[in-house]
Amino acid sequence: MANFTLLPRLACLLLFAAPLVAFATSTPDDFLQCLSLHSGNASAISKLVYTPINSSYSFVLDITIQNLRFLTPFAPKPNYIITPLNISHVLAAILCSRRYGLQMRTRSGGHDYEGLSYLSEVPFVILDMANFQLISVDAEDKTAWVQSGATVGELYYRIAEKSKTLGFPAGLCPTVGVGGHFSGGGYGTLLRKYGLAADNVIDAQLVDAQGRLLDRESMGEDLFWAIRGGGGGSFGVVVSWKVKLVPVPSTVTVFTILRTLEQNATKLVHQWQLIANKLPDDLFISLALQSTNSGPNGTRTMQASFSTLYLGGVDSLLEVTRSSFPELNVTRQDCTEMSWIESTVYFAGFPSRTPLEILLNRSSDTKMFFKNKSDYVREPIPESGLEGMWKRYFEEDEGVPQMIWSPYGGKMAEISESAIPFPHRAGVLYKIQHITLWTTGGNEVAPKHVSWIRSFYSYMAQYVSKSPREAYINYRDLDIGMNNVIGDTSYKQASVWGKKYFKKNFNRLVRVKTAVDPDNFFRHKQSIPPFSF
Ligand SMILES: Cc1cc2nc3c(=O)[nH]c(=O)nc-3n(C[C@H](O)[C@H](O)[C@H](O)COP(=O)(O)OP(=O)(O)OC[C@H]3O[C@@H](n4cnc5c(N)ncnc54)[C@H](O)[C@@H]3O)c2cc1C
Repeated sequence: MANFTLLPRLACLLLFAAPLVAFATSTPDDFLQCLSLHSGNASAISKLVYTPINSSYSFVLDITIQNLRFLTPFAPKPNYIITPLNISHVLAAILCSRRYGLQMRTRSGGHDYEGLSYLSEVPFVILDMANFQLISVDAEDKTAWVQSGATVGELYYRIAEKSKTLGFPAGLCPTVGVGGHFSGGGYGTLLRKYGLAADNVIDAQLVDAQGRLLDRESMGEDLFWAIRGGGGGSFGVVVSWKVKLVPVPSTVTVFTILRTLEQNATKLVHQWQLIANKLPDDLFISLALQSTNSGPNGTRTMQASFSTLYLGGVDSLLEVTRSSFPELNVTRQDCTEMSWIESTVYFAGFPSRTPLEILLNRSSDTKMFFKNKSDYVREPIPESGLEGMWKRYFEEDEGVPQMIWSPYGGKMAEISESAIPFPHRAGVLYKIQHITLWTTGGNEVAPKHVSWIRSFYSYMAQYVSKSPREAYINYRDLDIGMNNVIGDTSYKQASVWGKKYFKKNFNRLVRVKTAVDPDNFFRHKQSIPPFSF
């Protein structure tokens, strides 16, 4: 699918590219003319550009926004939304945005937690890659090319169309876009067996700030390293990824077991911390925690859900759980055998027998208001610490705060911290995603919920990784620091958040950025800045 015959033709386009000068007094006509000039087909590109006077502008803007906190009339809106159909449109968007001094935000699936793919405080353009949806699977070669606007659900579906024994280790939510997801790592139920999505990227096509279309060979190993986990929106526009597919058995087994405090949840959660990262790589038991009113006589309790994917049949799963986690008391009745592709539907939260085509439905999520944060845990939290967490959960509304604990170990512990920019490897027991999400009350209740999660995060400091307190870039959190949107961001300022996401790899990311985008064209509140004091 990767059309490398395009490279020479696009290189020609570049030779004639306009000088990169910002004109403060441009008009929409100037900008549109620039796009037409550089995309090679005036009538085609004009149909792909939306301005606030177009009737479809709001629809196109809002359609993939996941976090309802940012879906408000008060959020800053782009001067233009460009929805390219081919690479020359991407080039034109970059060159003309630079020429007319507009910042650019690249959006693929629109799932950024802080809305950084579609928000800016200065005049800007959204380059929306949603039309780049092609997926080409080569089952014999065990590889696939996937364009950045495709979703992980679409990738899983297309793989399963070609093979029942191949899969890919990416996220649980089918509507997440591969453009942003692979750029920040991307994990799901296969993480302990095969690592992250970004660990399994073997080539990519990217358009850089100079408008050059590059592949792995032409971009060089430094830039190829940086785009696999260094976070989206810093180095260029990823057009497509080539990924290595991974073997999965024709039968896998899943279960979800719920336990409340009255059913010994605190002890089970404590025990899970001791074993979940040491289980065989074929076994992934994640833990979701929330408070409900399902205690005796409707009192508040905590509910722990142990959700499991096992790469094998039920008999061997029962053997493993009996010997390694007998306290959970897994029975045959708890377990269901299915194909790997069916398990992706199961983990996306759909009822059994939901047709696989749900993976192709880009609006299958329920959009919600949320503010999330993340932590990495390297030492088990004592039972007294867990009880302190439950107490704080009971102070918030029922069901609003949640945590998802994802076990590490296995392949994650074998990959070196510097293999790609994602550094959270050996020694991590598990990752916590702290979630506060709500569907009623809108943005009016946001201050209350956001303030609760910030205070909970402070409480957790004593139990989680330190110096730095590590965080996952794909769970974007502006509370841990941000860049200036206008003017330079100093290395020191960006290190505050950068070292939490990338540890020592942050320095190499800054060096790559300085080499490939010294003018800092690709920028947002948490993009890697070029070096500046
Ligand atoms: C409901 C939900 C479920 C999730 N589940 C998981 C999960 O199971 N596992 C997991 O690891 N993460 C998960 N995430 C987090 C997700 O991985 C990140 O939010 C990811 O960045 C989303 O990618 P996107 O393309 O959808 O987002 P976007 O908002 O489009 O982009 C995110 C970032 O990447 C940049 N970007 C987007 N496209 C490109 C491109 N083509 N080239 C360069 N930069 C680009 C954007 O500018 C932005 O900075 C989930 C998020 C949500 C909202």
